[in-house]
Amino acid sequence: MVFLLLLACGSNNKTVDASLADSGNLECNSANLDQVIPGRLAVRLLKLTGVRLGEATLIITPSGELVLLDVGGKSHVDEVAAAVERVNTELLTEANGYADRASREVDWVILTHFHGDHAGALPELMVGPNALQIKKGVIHRGFVDVEGAAVDDKLVDDICQILQTNAAISLPLCESLTPLTCDFAASTSPRSASGCPGLRMGALGSAESSAITHLRFDTNSKLSFLAANGFANTETEVTQVESAIGYSDGDDENARSVAGVIEHGNFVYHFGGDMTGPGLPDMEQAYADSAGWAYGNKGVDVYQVHHHVRNDASGQGFLDMILPKDGLVRNVVGGISSAHLGSPQRIVVDRIVGNLSGGGMLFVTQKSVGGTDSGYVDANGDLDIIVDECGNNYRIQWEGGAQNYASVRHP
Ligand SMILES: [Zn+2]
Repeated sequence: MVFLLLLACGSNNKTVDASLADSGNLECNSANLDQVIPGRLAVRLLKLTGVRLGEATLIITPSGELVLLDVGGKSHVDEVAAAVERVNTELLTEANGYADRASREVDWVILTHFHGDHAGALPELMVGPNALQIKKGVIHRGFVDVEGAAVDDKLVDDICQILQTNAAISLPLCESLTPLTCDFAASTSPRSASGCPGLRMGALGSAESSAITHLRFDTNSKLSFLAANGFANTETEVTQVESAIGYSDGDDENARSVAGVIEHGNFVYHFGGDMTGPGLPDMEQAYADSAGWAYGNKGVDVYQVHHHVRNDASGQGFLDMILPKDGLVRNVVGGISSAHLGSPQRIVVDRIVGNLSGGGMLFVTQKSVGGTDSGYVDANGDLDIIVDECGNNYRIQWEGGAQNYASVRHP
């Protein structure tokens, strides 16, 4: 009987790669969790300013690589480049135990989708005075399903052209049967995704297998891509899980967002751009139904909230999967720029906070509306999440404070 109970607990702990939790040979040092040091994972959501919307997140891997998850809007080029420089010159330093890096060096860029607030800065971050040194790749959903009012044709053209020029580092997750030309403004064909073979290429940057596409950060740490363009990784294959995505407005592009999970030992983090929920093509529910296996019964430790805590995302069914109400502490972080007027939206705040237990909170880089609220924190600045070497404990810190937490899979 005892044995069966233990077995059940083990299966509840399931994630994409259960072996990541086997960190017995690591030194798990949860002291001084404010410090970013080799072996730890850190995530920094940037507070972006100005009159345009924007979201950008920096991920510092245990070995000292840098991943830029979305790049902000066209007006955020300077801010994002400066944020990269700060990480390279203040955190990823030789004094802190990392290898020497150039100040503009970024290993990987991931675009969740082609909207201006997530991808608008990319062209100027690849060419010109603010250009980053992107070493390994730009991962994106592929130039498929991009017609109509859902996207800014000029921006997609610019991104497509700059990535064609730098084809060696362009890594599309999905492909169309139509050969790629970049002239989207002149085209009326949606170039529908014929499939997403890029979701099953194993470890990018090496030739590991045909397993789920991932960035291998360390022996106990990786980022896996679970969905893009309405296709998702079930445990065994890539299949189209949401086919009712149109081309008529911005929500259609949001529904195509790339989503995935970062695992660091026992710690699990979800991202999914502006993925849509109930009332729209419900990619969140399709994702929960098809990729939910990757989260087990314990969901995540930290959910990077979809669509800037705006309505039509963070649906109840998805929240119940990712933030199960089991009394354990989970947190939600949201990247909101000063131009996101009306964000976060009350109805979504209430829904999220209603799913958090044990003292977990919703943290946002900025809230544009006044008033006091319980259950969530307006950092009014960058938000840092620092995870210890084994993913057993993590800290959320911002300029005005900090909180330490145990991961839900902490043994
Ligand atoms: Zn957005």
